[in-house]
Amino acid sequence: MYRIPHLDIPPLVAAAGTVRLPGSKSISNRVLLLAALAEGTTAVHGLLASDDTEVMRAALVALGCTLRDEGSGVGDGDGAGSVLHVTGLAGRLAVHDAQLFLGNAGTAMRPLAAALALLAATQGGRFELSGVARMHERPIGDLVDALRPLGCTIDDLGQPGYPPLRLRGERGGHLALAAPLQVRGDVSSQFLSALLLALPLVADTQDVVVEVVGELISKPYVEITLNLLARFGIEVRREGWQRFVVPAGSRYRSPGVVHVEGDASSASYFVALGAIAATDTPVRIEGVGAQSIQGDIRFVDAARAMGADVTAEANALVVRRGRWPLTGIAMDCTAIPDAAMTLAVMALYADGPSTLTGIASWRVKETDRIAAMAAELRAVGATVEEGPDRLHIVPPEPQAWRSATIRTYDDHRMAMCMSLAAFNGLAGAPSPRALRLLDPKCVAKTFPDYFEALFGLVQAAPGAVPVIAIDGPTASGKGTLAAQVAAQLGWHLLDSGALYRATGLAAMQDGVALDDEPRVAAIAAGLDLRFGQGAEAGRVWLRGQDVSDALRAEATGLAASRVSSLPAVRQALHGLQLSFARLPGLVADGRDMGTVVFPGAALKVYLTAGAGERAERRHKQLISKGIPARLADLRADLEARDTRDMQRAVAPLKPAEDARKLDNSQLTIEASVAQVLAWWAERGPLQGLAPR
Ligand code: C5P
Repeated sequence: MYRIPHLDIPPLVAAAGTVRLPGSKSISNRVLLLAALAEGTTAVHGLLASDDTEVMRAALVALGCTLRDEGSGVGDGDGAGSVLHVTGLAGRLAVHDAQLFLGNAGTAMRPLAAALALLAATQGGRFELSGVARMHERPIGDLVDALRPLGCTIDDLGQPGYPPLRLRGERGGHLALAAPLQVRGDVSSQFLSALLLALPLVADTQDVVVEVVGELISKPYVEITLNLLARFGIEVRREGWQRFVVPAGSRYRSPGVVHVEGDASSASYFVALGAIAATDTPVRIEGVGAQSIQGDIRFVDAARAMGADVTAEANALVVRRGRWPLTGIAMDCTAIPDAAMTLAVMALYADGPSTLTGIASWRVKETDRIAAMAAELRAVGATVEEGPDRLHIVPPEPQAWRSATIRTYDDHRMAMCMSLAAFNGLAGAPSPRALRLLDPKCVAKTFPDYFEALFGLVQAAPGAVPVIAIDGPTASGKGTLAAQVAAQLGWHLLDSGALYRATGLAAMQDGVALDDEPRVAAIAAGLDLRFGQGAEAGRVWLRGQDVSDALRAEATGLAASRVSSLPAVRQALHGLQLSFARLPGLVADGRDMGTVVFPGAALKVYLTAGAGERAERRHKQLISKGIPARLADLRADLEARDTRDMQRAVAPLKPAEDARKLDNSQLTIEASVAQVLAWWAERGPLQGLAPR
């Protein structure tokens, strides 16, 4: 998948509306594993579709499980409405030799390592588990140390104590389960969770006891594990947080149906958003609420302590700004390690310093999150002191806020957290600052549509949505250029020609003369148009009918050219065109994007190519579609249209004074796209974004 190199976020000023959370990562991967080990088929509703669940799914398929998707949710991020049917192995290995690549998913690596170590040791097998480079820097030694004394054979394939690992054993092997297993709990609770998820596989004839050595961190995650085990028929007995008994006779049984609740850690960004910027209408977060089994839901209390006004419904949170500025806090975050990152960003908007402690586990996550957070908070202007397990954050003085290029360290949470720094205008920054986030798509680990969700709720400072205007004559290739620039930047696209074409088409359908100005203008004002998104990008519906092909027809182009010379028609389409300028940005192509519709566009490009060249391109295009055409006619037609567009009284085709000219006669489309992106980058991402 192509990853957008960066995303520019202009200064943001308000938030309101409803967001539906994607499924919880922690619950999704646990449920996948349990369903895969269980007897029977489990229908999993609301499963998260993300990088981390994708690697788990692929691993389970490689191990011989049957996964069947039903519904439209595959790849749509929130997975709502989709169902995954998992037919489990009933505790018996179907495949005895596999190499599994687990990306950077700790929630896949740890429990699969435990389960496959036990299965290989008793049923025979050989499994290699590996991941991305960062996964090979994330410790797993405490889990390996707990499993080896049982008789599991685990080979370190890299640095001892870190993945990659090989797990192997012979059929009929016996495990030493009489004595309690010992596992450390102070580096990551995932080691204990992994053991609890896997040990029922071998607890058939005797109780298996796990003892935690050292203080157990992240207890709420262990609670999720116990809760889900119970749903799959395993009642682990817990004695405090030090001793856990997996009872003899344990057997995973599918509950038939499981609903995955929304991700409470993902909710934290929207709780913060409401606390910072929902001054009018609240931010409503659907998918988690008072009944959540996820520990990170306790983030809500911390957010309240900082000033958020949160109402918790059973399965939703409604958030408004309470106190403003927020109040600095001092907090031990051991119980909410992931969501606590969001507190660090809320601290930017506080009336005084905040101190977060108990966050040593941040150092072994997707990146060293203490170092990363300190560096990026400093980049926007805060003063930050960092300790081995703490952060002390002094918010920026209003004039100290800076525009910054934010690194995201291939860490989804860094990207999501830091996007919230764009509200600096609300903290009094005298000239509000835009942000550039590098590698924004790293959010795909847990929340592929995070930025779409964010931009659906927030408002930019007036005039601050960046626009790139691409104007030029017919068949200059601006449509293709604009579409590709928009795709690379992750921006919206306005093909303004399509609006004139649709107006012309509708007028012809209604039998209205193309020079009947008032009637054509009335049609333009009431256009019922829909542009396809995502998989349907490029398709257009007029009055509910797919007119994608009809719009491109030569006759429609001619009609467009005629109706577009009527001032009342241009006026009627003006507001509609402005409404396309939405976050994070707009690439608009046409004839007067830079001169009339978006005169304040951050970058204006005037695209040209010789009439001969353009006629040839159009000719090739038509011939390739099997449409007969004569080059000479096409050229004459183009030139007539150019003349009409250039000579009309209103909004004639001409380069804006500050437009960059690009003659693409000799350029490939890739080269033209690269040139426009280079101009955009050179312009400085952060200029032109300040409100006017
Ligand atoms: O760009 P396209 O060929 O789709 O545009 C169709 C017609 O609409 C053009 O010939 C032009 O006359 C008109 N148009 C315009 N102003 C725009 C875009 C298109 O007048 N911004």
